[in-house]
Amino acid sequence: MSTPSTATQSPIQIRKKVIAGNWKMNKTAGEGVSLTREILDEVGRETQVDIVLCPPFTALESVGHALEGQAVKLGAQNMHPEKNGAFTGEVSAEMLRTLYVTHVILGHSERRQYFAETDEFINRKVLAALANQLRPILCVGETLAEREAGSTLAVVQRQLEGALAGVKPEQLTTVIVAYEPVWAIGTGKVATTAQAQEVHAFIRELLSKLYAPALAQKVRILYGGSMKPANAPELLAQPDIDGGLIGGAALESRSFVELVKAALAAS
Ligand code: PEP
Repeated sequence: MSTPSTATQSPIQIRKKVIAGNWKMNKTAGEGVSLTREILDEVGRETQVDIVLCPPFTALESVGHALEGQAVKLGAQNMHPEKNGAFTGEVSAEMLRTLYVTHVILGHSERRQYFAETDEFINRKVLAALANQLRPILCVGETLAEREAGSTLAVVQRQLEGALAGVKPEQLTTVIVAYEPVWAIGTGKVATTAQAQEVHAFIRELLSKLYAPALAQKVRILYGGSMKPANAPELLAQPDIDGGLIGGAALESRSFVELVKAALAAS
């Protein structure tokens, strides 16, 4: 059970850090199981940090079996909002649940950019995930052009308000938000701690206004965008950065485990 929020508590006491690995379109089922076993050997019983592995759909079942009895959670990288039907190539929340998936990445910038996902469509997915007891990892973030135009906060606000439309106050803390500046994803360019903290604080402030300050204090807000063992300690020390959504560094056990250890050290 989470500790109640009070003005005197530090954020660290009320928000468990999350390290989530987004494998994207990498790893066969067999490769995924090998990577999972290597991670489990090091941090499989770790409960002080929430660890989530998000393999491609084709590896969910095998990785899920490898995770049985462990504290590490299974996440999907996408889902369709409808329950079933003529949606070739898509999978539903219910299908994910039968594979013991607990988390689902929604609104990733690669889905927005390459698959034309809109805030409205992402919102439908968020509501469907919550209705099916899946925890959305909701990604928001600006492109380089948007940052250079000075519209970072407006973009993040539009994406967040759009995705959360109709999410009830009692559902809010089930949502994990990931701030991922698009220009930092897979580029090796990491946002400075000041840039990241500014947007994270803005997101929490916005959640306070949309819901309530006490609820906003409980929402985990992850940073994503070239997070690596070298830059993680400084990012994770920021008051509003509650973990990381990791791409490249999640594909190798050593770097992923180091990131989990950095989150532990910052907890
Ligand atoms: C991501 O795609 O969610 C991501 C953060 O990727 P990377 O860590 O490779 O920048």
